[in-house]
Amino acid sequence: MTTETIEFQAEARQLLQLMIHAIYSSKDVFLRELISNSSDALDKLRLAAFRDKDLDVDTDDLHITVTTDPAASTLTVADNGIGMSREEVVDLIGTIAKSGTSQVLAKLREARESGQSEQASAELIGQFGVGFYSSFMVADKVTLITRKAGAHQGVRWESTGEGSYTVSDEPDAPQGTSVTLHLKPEDTEDELHDYANPLAVRTIIKRYSDFITWPIRMAPITPPAPPAPPAAEAAEGADAETDADTETEVVEAVPEPEVVNSRKALWARSQSEVTEEEYTEFYRHVSHDWQEPLQTIRLSAEGTFEYQALLFIPGHAPMDLYWRDAKRGVQLYVKRVFIMDDCEALVPEYLRFVKGVVDANDLSLNISREILQQDRQIRLIRNRLVKKVLSTVKTLREDEPAKFATFNAEFGRAVKEGLLADPDNRQAILEILTFASTHDAEQPSTLADYVSRMPEGQSDIYYITGESRSALEKSPHMEAFRAKGYEVLLLTDPIDEIWVDAVSDFDSKSFASIAKGEIDLGGEDVDDDTAKDFGDLLGWLTATLIDDVKQVRLSHRLTTSAAVLVGDPGDLTPTLEKMYRAMGQ
Ligand code: ADP
Ligand code: MG
Repeated sequence: MTTETIEFQAEARQLLQLMIHAIYSSKDVFLRELISNSSDALDKLRLAAFRDKDLDVDTDDLHITVTTDPAASTLTVADNGIGMSREEVVDLIGTIAKSGTSQVLAKLREARESGQSEQASAELIGQFGVGFYSSFMVADKVTLITRKAGAHQGVRWESTGEGSYTVSDEPDAPQGTSVTLHLKPEDTEDELHDYANPLAVRTIIKRYSDFITWPIRMAPITPPAPPAPPAAEAAEGADAETDADTETEVVEAVPEPEVVNSRKALWARSQSEVTEEEYTEFYRHVSHDWQEPLQTIRLSAEGTFEYQALLFIPGHAPMDLYWRDAKRGVQLYVKRVFIMDDCEALVPEYLRFVKGVVDANDLSLNISREILQQDRQIRLIRNRLVKKVLSTVKTLREDEPAKFATFNAEFGRAVKEGLLADPDNRQAILEILTFASTHDAEQPSTLADYVSRMPEGQSDIYYITGESRSALEKSPHMEAFRAKGYEVLLLTDPIDEIWVDAVSDFDSKSFASIAKGEIDLGGEDVDDDTAKDFGDLLGWLTATLIDDVKQVRLSHRLTTSAAVLVGDPGDLTPTLEKMYRAMGQ
């Protein structure tokens, strides 16, 4: 096939435009993205070769090479990993399959239209993680040459990032992928961020990619030239001798490349050895996030079934947290060998936002997702991870309230799913959630704090469910509770409707809806005289409303409203009814 020119998919084009004009403060991160892709490609090749003995590849020397060329103003990141076929290049590089793309783009447009700073849009891009496209922050042309493992023919992809790219055959491409950036002139001006300067590039690799377990090679930095020989000797030299000297120098000028990263798997190092910054960079590598993690979690087990885990709670929810195809963020390694991303056997769905690595010593490299799901040891690891994550958040609640608040704002809704999905950990989950409450208009409350404020005589935890805080605050159901000074939880997530029925209690206190049944607010009983006074009215109301209500009764619930609709304890709430109706049930 000859050269084809192909348009970028619309969303890809928009993201590229953003990249080309990005004023992201730390453009260095493009290198982390490219090395990260190479590292993934090497992981994939090792696994493929292990599983498919017929695959004709040499996996003895898997590595990444970074080459700078100051004269040509280029930087190349190359690997001898899995490579891509022509179709894959078009699919993976020419389109963006990432969920959340259109949301990010919409938010970016919004940010721009409302006049927010470039920094705000840079942050959005950072949260999204644009991977390969970040090359266009520093390059005005990118050339990717790749050959898929086992294929005989390579592909060349080239683009300036403006609308379209070309793909053509590259018969002699070595196996693996090389990405060459033709650097923008302005990015070679600042010495520390001159990406054609080998020293600057080394420093960036050390900072962002030191933990990559594959060797990252670079040509050694040329030592300073030896002092010039005395002038007399030099003058004696004939032309022929000079030529000979130059030749030997050329031979010496192809020195062994050096490995520039320390290659240590962070999770295998003792905790005291690893710096905060190293954890952060590793987090960015596994999460594709550009921000810092909220919390780092380490755990390990020794003995019959050994494993190490390094987990992170991100500082913000990913775009796709509530989408059906949301991925789980934990990778499985076996004895330092990458096995799979998105390992659902290791974390329950309600903790899908947790990122990181679990490295187990005693599994087969051949293990499949199906087998993992049934593996008893994996189940034990999973149980322990869950408990550890929940207890870590509980510690945040006590020691770092600001982080705890962030956790709940970002992930509370997802964690609530665990109240239904994970009955074993229900109490632990209830302990770390917060809920909007009438106690404070701004700050949500933990259940423990709610209980500590319960006055003498209150035995239940009162709540009301509905669509919004403001609607609930206006509800006539609130009147008597407000008058009596009882605190009520204001539950507005759709899932609240469901878990409140499934969860029996917290700290031996039942959950009681203030919109259902008869709640004893400790008032006097309706006396006989009052009952007689209202007898006729009640009879008439009951007869008139017979098709719509079960009963009309007198109550202490209201202080200013004349009447309120109350459900039976077993009834669906209005919101749930609406949900079921919307689902066609
Ligand atoms: P992500 O890494 O988050 O998937 P990227 O934009 O960084 O997103 O890369 C897109 C895809 O292109 C990768 O998922 C991978 O399939 C492919 N890819 C990128 N770089 C390489 C490489 N060096 N070798 C093989 N495939 C690559
Ligand atoms: Mg990537």
